[in-house]
Amino acid sequence: AKREARGNYRQFEANMAEALRMRSTLERDLRRALTAGEIVPYYQPLIALDTGRLSGFEVLARWNHPRYGLMAPAAFIPLAEEIGRIGDLFRQLLAAACADARQWPSEMGISMNVSPTQFADPELASQILMTLHDTGIAPKRLELEITESALVDKVSSAHLTLTTLREVGVTVALDDFGTGYSNLRHLSDLPVDRVKIDRLFVERARQDIENWKIVRAIVQFAHALNLETTAEGIEIAEAADILRDVGCDVGQGYFFGRPQSAAVTSAWLTELVRN
Ligand code: C2E
Ligand code: CA
Ligand code: CA
Ligand code: CA
Repeated sequence: AKREARGNYRQFEANMAEALRMRSTLERDLRRALTAGEIVPYYQPLIALDTGRLSGFEVLARWNHPRYGLMAPAAFIPLAEEIGRIGDLFRQLLAAACADARQWPSEMGISMNVSPTQFADPELASQILMTLHDTGIAPKRLELEITESALVDKVSSAHLTLTTLREVGVTVALDDFGTGYSNLRHLSDLPVDRVKIDRLFVERARQDIENWKIVRAIVQFAHALNLETTAEGIEIAEAADILRDVGCDVGQGYFFGRPQSAAVTSAWLTELVRN
């Protein structure tokens, strides 16, 4: 048994060494990818549920890796945060998204994810405004998606940054609402314009009709505070219908469209405008 334990430990060590090797390779790759422009925006449609019209897109990062192909953000966003490159990644994506949005109808919004760690950068607001200015995108077309963890500290730099940006028309959405330690009471004090109801609620509601009551309560609560609502993870027509019926403003999910490259999105928009 002792020998077996030793064997297991060796195996463990070998696995650890392998994991560390892979991580450092990925880390080196990521630094290179940022310079080489391999991190690209994908766009997922946001639909106004009452009219069924497209209102804009959420920008979702993808890594066009020369060897591994298209990589999902879960594989590199946490790493980018850890090695202090999430700000670079954000700036590149924002510049690319603004350049793309310039080619689209002017009412199309873009929604960007911002990591909590980015708020440590006092230049964040001015960099965003500069990019908007340089690319000629009106601030009201930009929404920032943040999570509650960015706002836990009441006098944090996040509040300052977001307040500055909201003054010129940028809007803020509270992402993944309902998953963390969502504090309903404090929601009215936060510098936000919208709540994004997490996919989990829509999934649960699909399993048990009673759960729609929770979703409806969140929508009503948000509206009482003058906040707009977006529901994520809409995969079927029934979910879209019910969400519209409970008064949810915007819908997002595979039912309306998956995240797509800039080229596919532009072609789709051209088609949409023509019809
Ligand atoms: P998120 O912000 O909650 O984004 C929504 C995620 O749900 C996306 O996954 C999207 O592809 C997926 N999704 C959309 N509709 C459906 C649906 O109907 N069903 C299902 N099952 N999933 C759906 P994705 O693109 O893999 O992104 C995962 C997470 O990575 C995002 O979650 C966000 O937290 C993070 N992320 C993505 N891009 C960025 C970025 O540029 N910066 C930062 N900081 N985080 C990002
Ligand atoms: Ca998001
Ligand atoms: Ca989300
Ligand atoms: Ca999420």
